[in-house]
Amino acid sequence: MSEPFNHGDPSNAGLLGQKPATPGRASPTTGVGWFAVAQTVKFPVPQRRQTAAVQTITLPASPAAFADAGWSDIAPYYEDLATASLTRDNVEAWLKSWSQLEELIDEAGTMAMIAYTGDTADAEKEKAHLRFSTEIFPQAHEQGVRLSKRLLDLDYTRPGLETTVQRFRTDAEIFREENVALFAELEELSAQYQKIVGGLTAQWEGETKTIPQLQPYLKERDRQIRERAWRLGNEAYLVHRDELAALFDKMFIARTKVAGNAGFPNYQEYAFKSKHRFDYTPADCDRFHEAVERTVVPAVARQLEYRRERLGLDRVRPWDLGVELERVESLKPFDDAGVFVDRAKAIFRRVDPTLGNEFALMAADGLLDLESRKGKAPGGYCTKLSFRGKPFIFMNAVGVADDVNTLVHEAGHSFHDFAAHKQALIWQRSPGHEAAELASMSMELLASPYLQKPDGYYTADEARSAQIEHLEDILFSLPHIASVDAFQSWIYTSGEGHDAAARDRAWLEIRSRFEHGIDWSGLEQERVARWYRQLHIFEYPFYYIEYGIAQMGALQVWRHSLADQATAVKHYREALALGGTVGLPEIYQAAGARLVFDAETMGELVELVEKRLTQLRAA
Ligand SMILES: [Zn+2]
Repeated sequence: MSEPFNHGDPSNAGLLGQKPATPGRASPTTGVGWFAVAQTVKFPVPQRRQTAAVQTITLPASPAAFADAGWSDIAPYYEDLATASLTRDNVEAWLKSWSQLEELIDEAGTMAMIAYTGDTADAEKEKAHLRFSTEIFPQAHEQGVRLSKRLLDLDYTRPGLETTVQRFRTDAEIFREENVALFAELEELSAQYQKIVGGLTAQWEGETKTIPQLQPYLKERDRQIRERAWRLGNEAYLVHRDELAALFDKMFIARTKVAGNAGFPNYQEYAFKSKHRFDYTPADCDRFHEAVERTVVPAVARQLEYRRERLGLDRVRPWDLGVELERVESLKPFDDAGVFVDRAKAIFRRVDPTLGNEFALMAADGLLDLESRKGKAPGGYCTKLSFRGKPFIFMNAVGVADDVNTLVHEAGHSFHDFAAHKQALIWQRSPGHEAAELASMSMELLASPYLQKPDGYYTADEARSAQIEHLEDILFSLPHIASVDAFQSWIYTSGEGHDAAARDRAWLEIRSRFEHGIDWSGLEQERVARWYRQLHIFEYPFYYIEYGIAQMGALQVWRHSLADQATAVKHYREALALGGTVGLPEIYQAAGARLVFDAETMGELVELVEKRLTQLRAA
């Protein structure tokens, strides 16, 4: 087992470019290198004097033109779109131009983010990333809202555009001028968080290790080694606890102001709106927490009891969770990045030939930065290069089984990006995190039968234990998801979220609700440290329940695939191709699943996982 979701995953962030990785990509119909052609986008604009003049907006040839841009270089393009005459006759051409402008800015900013997260110590790269995240994106977001109002004023929609219009309407409703500076401040605070945790190291047998580099030791058979690695990892965070708490104080204040400015009583209500959660409510999330408590927490306790017996322990301590039960040696799926990538290509080809080709294309185009290095930001993500129309995967691989899981997960996002390309406008391609994570988590399960050689990384027996570990991970992740979601709900609605000590106490209380069967005695501070390690709480508030909703969806896709792999994959790809053109329930339905918040359905899926675990262990 591993710490679930330590990967960052900032894919599919804000609709109109307020985040480093915004949705969307270039139309696949361009089919040429992103640097190859100057694009001139023409659309007819009726002039005031009623001549037949045609106004032309010429966009830069490529995002490279914006690489060093300041806001003043970009603003005129928005100005042109804002002042051009707009009617129902030219609205589609106008939308296309605007979409292409967003693609150019988005890709330029994403390239800056990729460069920075690959090398957080480089001051120039940091500066460029901050220029986009604090100067350009917030103002582009503001201009995007201005343009979306023009569309809303026109009262124009058509099939395929309804969800875009609904998101625009929501964004316009909650937009406040005075929040722009606050978003910029929050971006800077996020960068500070990344800098602190990206620079964390520990001394291990005379060597300086990054925290991800300690991860393999958590799987060691020698309990003392595991404990030492576990404690070192937590201590690295605990040393910075006050600094991180003070940073979070600032984030809390800024977010509370954002919500207040927009007329919401708390940040949770604001977040549900701004995250376009049209299909579920905070009350549904509470039901989800209760369902986890009723169905998953007891199942995890059974798994922990099995673990305690197998390891011959009197009690399970937190450093006992990583050790594999089926094997004496930890899985070492690869020892160089070339093998890592080549096997992945073969695995995805087995899932589906088209998906295999797409992954091979990413490898050929240098769109994979997989190996852990000092100075790299922690975690992993898949982001889109919106203009050239390709995804990019970033992670910190060290040669453990988790790296395979992370790559397969992020590749699921990238297949989503490829599939959604066919949607013409940038806003039509991104369905939000609940569907994005459905794509990635389903892929983890769909790929799992193919992890064994000759295609994959493992012998049959190793593959069996990898599958066991994956299914254990799924069960163990759900209480963590419920904890993180319930904790954030508490932070922003209890009235005590501003108080650092109260936050730590609340985390401990929530943690004991969802985590049974592990002995934490004497480790209270370490238990507290866990939330400081959860970058979502700092950088992407309320982005976590999506993982739970999506996991429930993925388990349904998997249940289907056990009976009929081909049809399950077909439905999966059909759901991905919808992009963001339909609502969440419709996307899930296309994938052969539905949104699950209730204990009954969750219980069925948990039972399926436990049953499969029993079968695999007996094999
Ligand atoms: Zn993801």
